[in-house]
Amino acid sequence: MQKLKVNEIFYSLQGESSYIGLPTIFIRLTGCPMRCSYCDTAYAFNAGDNFTIDETLDAISKYKTKNVTITGGEPLAQKECWNLLKCLCDSGYTVSLETGGAISISKIDKRVKIILDIKTPGSGEEKNNLWENLELIKPKDEIKFVITDKKDYVWAKNALIKEKLNEKALVLFSPVYGDINPKDLAEWILKDQLPVRFQIQLHKIIWGEVEGV
Ligand code: SF4
Repeated sequence: MQKLKVNEIFYSLQGESSYIGLPTIFIRLTGCPMRCSYCDTAYAFNAGDNFTIDETLDAISKYKTKNVTITGGEPLAQKECWNLLKCLCDSGYTVSLETGGAISISKIDKRVKIILDIKTPGSGEEKNNLWENLELIKPKDEIKFVITDKKDYVWAKNALIKEKLNEKALVLFSPVYGDINPKDLAEWILKDQLPVRFQIQLHKIIWGEVEGV
């Protein structure tokens, strides 16, 4: 049986998306083909232990919540991730997937809420955006821009308008923690009357930049 390389499994509050604040089990898979300038999970690029899907389900069974987020790294970099997503849904979990947007989201179980990043120029990974993914996005999914500066904001605003992203799904604009003043981003969004949701990474406000939250 194929194994997954798992960097960490932990229980915390969801810090992002429309599930923000909900007690959630996080399964962080090892590895990522990208190297975003602001990456806060470089520790997940290589380190991890091998788990079968049954072992993963067993490891999370001690938690009472049914909310599970699969994150990384880039979870879709491991082919077994697709099976994990399906098995979690079959086991009655409410499943969300955080993906960087460079790998196709086709064939992902339709019960999964996908949080799809679109990488801005400031990330250094704009060239890896797989724009075809936008044709596969479902109304219950979410599209996320991590904004590093005003230039990124303008770029994201133009992409939002050009691709009519808010007609496809909820759009999230999130400032890079500690890099850009959240107040500036909030004011740009309000001034331009953009139909997006502003978010700050809640877990970092509560616990700071530490692993396992
Ligand atoms: S896609 Fe995510 S995990 Fe990969 S480098 Fe970018 S921020 Fe880090």
